[in-house]
Amino acid sequence: MAEVLVYVDHVDGAVRKPTLELLTLARRIGEPVAVALGPGAENTAAALAEHGAVKVLTHDASEYADYLVVPKVDALQAAVEAASAGGSPAAVLVPSSAEGKEIAARLALRIGSGIITDAVDVEAGAEGPVATQSVFAASFTTKSRVSKGIPVITVKPNSAAVEAAPAAGAVEALSVSFSAQATGTKVTGRTPRESTGRPELTEAAIVVSGGRGVNGAENFALIEALADSLGAAVGASRAAVDAGWYPHTNQVGQTGKSVSPQLYIANGISGAIQHRAGMQTSKTIVAVNKDAEAPIFDLVDYGVVGDLFAVVPQLTEEINTRKG
Ligand code: FAD
Repeated sequence: MAEVLVYVDHVDGAVRKPTLELLTLARRIGEPVAVALGPGAENTAAALAEHGAVKVLTHDASEYADYLVVPKVDALQAAVEAASAGGSPAAVLVPSSAEGKEIAARLALRIGSGIITDAVDVEAGAEGPVATQSVFAASFTTKSRVSKGIPVITVKPNSAAVEAAPAAGAVEALSVSFSAQATGTKVTGRTPRESTGRPELTEAAIVVSGGRGVNGAENFALIEALADSLGAAVGASRAAVDAGWYPHTNQVGQTGKSVSPQLYIANGISGAIQHRAGMQTSKTIVAVNKDAEAPIFDLVDYGVVGDLFAVVPQLTEEINTRKG
């Protein structure tokens, strides 16, 4: 069985959920080999083995923390070359984060391969892995495969279930020599984001969003309370962000973040195509809007025509009561 390289997104050895989802997809098309880089790389092995990694290639060097993405591209290229010695890998899977997409694009260029970004599913095909994408603001679902080189595919968070699949997870040191470009762009400082205690927006299983209908920064407390009752992340439409009611880091849509949670609850959001582009692949969509003709109702699974100031607090209270 051909190896499938999986780029590991981790923080000091704690593997992030999107990588475990990639392992589920990787097992469909070959033998998952994880590539973990930077501080704590070796500590990722246990979690990766539990979810199907037959091998974990690790490498740590100060370059990963001190410079932008090129050292990681160098390492992933080294992993592809090492894997190619035993026959061509079936694919390289990378989480669809901003950094993941940059790494994947640079890698594809380096190794002369085609790339598919923002896949929402990957399956085995007769001529190589087939990726599903949701395109044109999710108006169409396409299936494609890379026809040149080793397929490089980035996959959106929440596209697959995390499955326990114990495997050997043998740790091997990856040999990496950095290119001249690796140290071209230095990180000069990092500002840790203030923790809200809520899950990361792009990885959250539930997202509760507010739009112009929320009508003020202070009213976002209602959206946050509903989110907290569900253990959800908070999103916002561009109208709400442009009005200064919520930070841009929480914007969902074409010029914000793309989310694909199990449940998306849109409050006071009309459903403009640019907003839909960032949330339409959510598994279940609920909207609260006082205008029965709002376009958001064309794509919802459940719609509530009503004033969010009446509906949202009741919903929050009901959820909290049921939780006990
Ligand atoms: P509106 O369209 O004003 O809708 C507000 C809704 O709230 C209405 O449907 C109204 O009926 C409802 N409402 C009002 N009061 C209440 C109440 N009390 N209770 C219940 N419902 C109520 N938008 C994004 O969101 N994300 C993007 O990334 C993005 N990128 C863009 C990129 C480009 C290039 C462009 C041109 C636009 C982009 N937009 C984006 C903007 C987009 O076109 C819309 O303008 C925006 O999504 C509208 O936000 P909204 O739905 O919150 O506001």
